[in-house]
Amino acid sequence: MKIAVASGKGGTGKTTVAVNMAVSLGNAQLLDCDVEEPNCNLFLGHPLQKVRDVGIQIPSISRDKCNSCRKCAEACRFNALAVLPTGIMLFPQLCHGCGACSLVCPQDAISETTHVIGTVERSASSARRVELYQGVLNIGEPMASPVIRALKQYIDDSRTVILDSPPGTSCPVISSITGTDYCILVTEPTPFGLHDLLLAVELVKELQIPYGVIINRHGTGDDSVEGYCYENNIPVLMKIPYDRRITELYSEGIPFVLQMPHWKDQFLNLFIKLQVLTGRY
Ligand code: SF4
Ligand code: SF4
Repeated sequence: MKIAVASGKGGTGKTTVAVNMAVSLGNAQLLDCDVEEPNCNLFLGHPLQKVRDVGIQIPSISRDKCNSCRKCAEACRFNALAVLPTGIMLFPQLCHGCGACSLVCPQDAISETTHVIGTVERSASSARRVELYQGVLNIGEPMASPVIRALKQYIDDSRTVILDSPPGTSCPVISSITGTDYCILVTEPTPFGLHDLLLAVELVKELQIPYGVIINRHGTGDDSVEGYCYENNIPVLMKIPYDRRITELYSEGIPFVLQMPHWKDQFLNLFIKLQVLTGRY
């Protein structure tokens, strides 16, 4: 079963939920898809090893063959090519590796070369029985989705897989949650939380992924999120209270289920609930 943990905005406790759930379950795979800022391993604390580089194909232009006809720049929808009096210039950070430029070049002046944009790393944790894979997008690179897609190639379908999605509702989130069996939307009980939850709900509806909500820092803010979920028949899967001990453990990088064992039971119950909701139990 593949469970995505997402949120309409950052800072809601998405990673906390993903890590504590994985640690509670044990024998789970945890994929940190928040490739711009992967931080699941802050709570697992294991050495990481690179599994592979992730690259995209970008054009390499032969100055000898190029006659500056501009056809490649006109074909590029991403404005990654500029034809200057001194020759053609590529902006690699804008290139999406679509290959259109090489298709239209009448001089056969464009070949392709690999541009590394990130890595996939792995940490095997026997102590907490969680196998972590994380994607890392190199600094300055704008395209997270190819790294996320490469990361998801390591999904082990025979195990429970938890995917910690990037925050928001943009392309990297779609890359992360597509193909999952259930999406947990983590939010906080505030008007801002509700606003971003509405965006996230629209996204999972569009992708036709079953979903439910976890309210973090419950007891603060207001009841607008709960009211919305109730009115729209959206399951509230769990409420995590605003608790000083949970906050302290978070700041120490310790999954709170390790020191608050009753929460481990809550996450195991949550997993059973998800199995029921997806018809697996
Ligand atoms: S299409 Fe080919 S020949 Fe024309 S400017 Fe681009 S690289 Fe040069
Ligand atoms: S591969 Fe696609 S995005 Fe990159 S420069 Fe060529 S046309 Fe533009």
